[in-house]
Amino acid sequence: MEHVQVLIAGGGIAGLSAAIWCQRLGLSCLLVEKSDRLGGQLHQIHNEIWDFPPRVYPRGASLLDELYQHPTIQNLNVRLGEELLAIDRDAHIVTTSKTAYRVDYLLIATGVTPNEIPALNGCKRVLPPAFSSTAEATSVAGLALAVIGGGDRALESAVNLARHARHVYLLIRSNHLRARPEWLRKIAGLPNLSLLWETEVTGYQDEGERLCLTLASRRPENPPTLAVDWILPRIGVHGNCAGLGGLATFGEGYLKTDEFQRADDSWIYGTGDATNGAAYASLSLAVGQAMKAVKHISMQYRSSTPF
Ligand SMILES: Cc1cc2nc3c(=O)[nH]c(=O)nc-3n(C[C@H](O)[C@H](O)[C@H](O)COP(=O)(O)OP(=O)(O)OC[C@H]3O[C@@H](n4cnc5c(N)ncnc54)[C@H](O)[C@@H]3O)c2cc1C
Repeated sequence: MEHVQVLIAGGGIAGLSAAIWCQRLGLSCLLVEKSDRLGGQLHQIHNEIWDFPPRVYPRGASLLDELYQHPTIQNLNVRLGEELLAIDRDAHIVTTSKTAYRVDYLLIATGVTPNEIPALNGCKRVLPPAFSSTAEATSVAGLALAVIGGGDRALESAVNLARHARHVYLLIRSNHLRARPEWLRKIAGLPNLSLLWETEVTGYQDEGERLCLTLASRRPENPPTLAVDWILPRIGVHGNCAGLGGLATFGEGYLKTDEFQRADDSWIYGTGDATNGAAYASLSLAVGQAMKAVKHISMQYRSSTPF
């Protein structure tokens, strides 16, 4: 069985930053990434990134292009299409979709996955989670859309799409919005945007090019059905850690870690969105946590190595 000093699971910015710190601190690492490319959510960022100082990047792909130029990333020991599946905590063995490793330290940087709406299972007119309401909005010009959700991303999407769509319906499950006030100001007064409060999708019927949604609402003024061309669910994300090795999690599948990014086992660490919860998801935090985790791992090595 292959022995690995530090196994990093996840090739988003958190995992890649961890690899850079492994190089810096003299630890050998192997990174496994379940998809066929590195970068994670960076591929989905089509807005300007101006809060990851000091550079302002026009989009996530530009940041990723620069990251690819980093000498450590160019020489990274990486295995694409390989998914972390299970952890044997007593034996220090990590099983992936391809093989099993004996591992000194595991660093979980598996990020998040968008939540889905069970009532829309199998529906072909649901836009994919990676759909960009900034870069791809013109593809729905003149059409009617239902955006589902009440957070920042739902409102941002609704506002962006309303610039091109014939009509946008924003379906909100509760009687208040989680979004920041700036988005509330932006939706106010948009003539082709309707808010359907306290409304959920309970089913759908394909009608050729269109779709008829069945709605359940506490508000009698809301319609029982809604005909749209496309649906865009924006109902948040969950962490990709639920059930992994029986490690403690919080919220929707986020890994619980201590002040050194260590999970409830001394050889397992977490970094990035997988450990943060949606409210704190950010590039800066993911990068900072990666440094802290790897530094702590290197200190563990030093304290356990006899001189
Ligand atoms: C549209 C959008 C705009 C954003 N804008 C900004 C912004 O302007 N500023 C900012 O700071 N942040 C922004 N963010 C948030 C930021 O992108 C994330 O906080 C950051 O990219 C998280 O990085 P990560 O490495 O933790 O996770 P991810 O990028 O999600 O990477 C996780 C990786 O792990 C892989 N993976 C998952 N499960 C497994 C497994 N079991 N085994 C192996 N690999 C696995 C995934 O395929 C993925 O490649 C934005 C996010 C989005 C979606």
